[in-house]
Amino acid sequence: MAAQREWADKDYYKDLGVTRGASEDEIKKAYRKIARDNHPDSHPGDSSAEDRFKQASEAYAVIGDIKKRKEYDELKDMLASGGLGGFGGHGFNTARNGASGSFRTTFNSNFDTGSGFSTSDLFGSESSGGIGDILGGLFNGGRGSASAAATRGQRNLRGADVETEITLDFREATRGATVPIRLTNPSPCQQCHSSGAKPGSSPHTCHTCDGDGVISENRGAFGFSEPCSTCGGTGSKIDDPCTACDGSGVTTRTRTITVRVPSGVVDGQRVRLAGQGEAGLRGRPAGDLFVTVHVRPDKLFTRKGDDLCVTVPASFAELALGGVVTVPTLDSKVRVKIPAGTNDGRTLRVRGRGVPKRNQSSGDLLVTVKVTIPPQLDEGAASALRSYAAEEQRIGFDPRADWPGKEG
Ligand SMILES: [Zn+2]
Ligand SMILES: [Zn+2]
Repeated sequence: MAAQREWADKDYYKDLGVTRGASEDEIKKAYRKIARDNHPDSHPGDSSAEDRFKQASEAYAVIGDIKKRKEYDELKDMLASGGLGGFGGHGFNTARNGASGSFRTTFNSNFDTGSGFSTSDLFGSESSGGIGDILGGLFNGGRGSASAAATRGQRNLRGADVETEITLDFREATRGATVPIRLTNPSPCQQCHSSGAKPGSSPHTCHTCDGDGVISENRGAFGFSEPCSTCGGTGSKIDDPCTACDGSGVTTRTRTITVRVPSGVVDGQRVRLAGQGEAGLRGRPAGDLFVTVHVRPDKLFTRKGDDLCVTVPASFAELALGGVVTVPTLDSKVRVKIPAGTNDGRTLRVRGRGVPKRNQSSGDLLVTVKVTIPPQLDEGAASALRSYAAEEQRIGFDPRADWPGKEG
């Protein structure tokens, strides 16, 4: 479809110096004359002749071919009939009935503007979205009507997603928490229960589209759909709109939503609550609510994945002789045995006392010991320590034995 992308910007009849009503024969003759007069073989190095030759060849490749000429004419008709405004009317139909399957590829959102679109938008070869995207862009600005939102096609009637954030304490986050949050946003209308119809009445199915909201047409390999104009793409008709929501089924309201944050959530994690975003029009699916969770640091604990980390101050004697320390956990406490001969900075692992996981098990508690030296010693303690130091020398203990910085 590479050539067709350029058609809108071209005037192939003018390029060949013929009128649009020209016969096949007239077109062929016009092309031959230009080609003969400007042929590169007889005009070596003449770039303007070369350009003219190429231009005529390109034009003839299209309007010299009956099938392509028809498609080209139809594209031009469509564009001439008012471009975008025309999509709802005559021009649209022309394009739909005539232009080849290329129309199925991409109509992108450039159609919103109603002007200044190029043919690459018409004939882009990559299709990024479905028909809903196409119609959304096509009909939104294209009709320029007050009911633009309602003409976007069914899928766009879904409510928008909502983003919010909450802050949890470290311990709440590790254990999991239930947090009420207040949101003020489009919510289902309570008066009409989202139907959009005045209480006592009810919407009826649109007869034009049988409730689909979309009119589809299949022509061989080429399918096309447009939002139903009778119901504005909603699939239903309301004779007596609800006064609270003007028939949209949606009113802005403050709601309290309970967010259940799973255990083990980490700072910055997003929790998705399906269907808790903005309400969809007339009972269409709501958007989702995304809650970004922030976690306040804790004075005692940090986390490494599902493991809970805590640092415990200990005396030299406790590490050297061994001992038992009591360490808090998230929900209670645990007694941790320090083996004799434990070095400063060593981490002891207590299985299953860390952060609860979803599978009912828990990570581990990682207890790191940190020697604390008394700022001063009384005579008794000092003298005991001096005799200890003497013993240390006697048994030949060298704390720097394996230290790379040791001399000689
Ligand atoms: Zn209502
Ligand atoms: Zn309809």
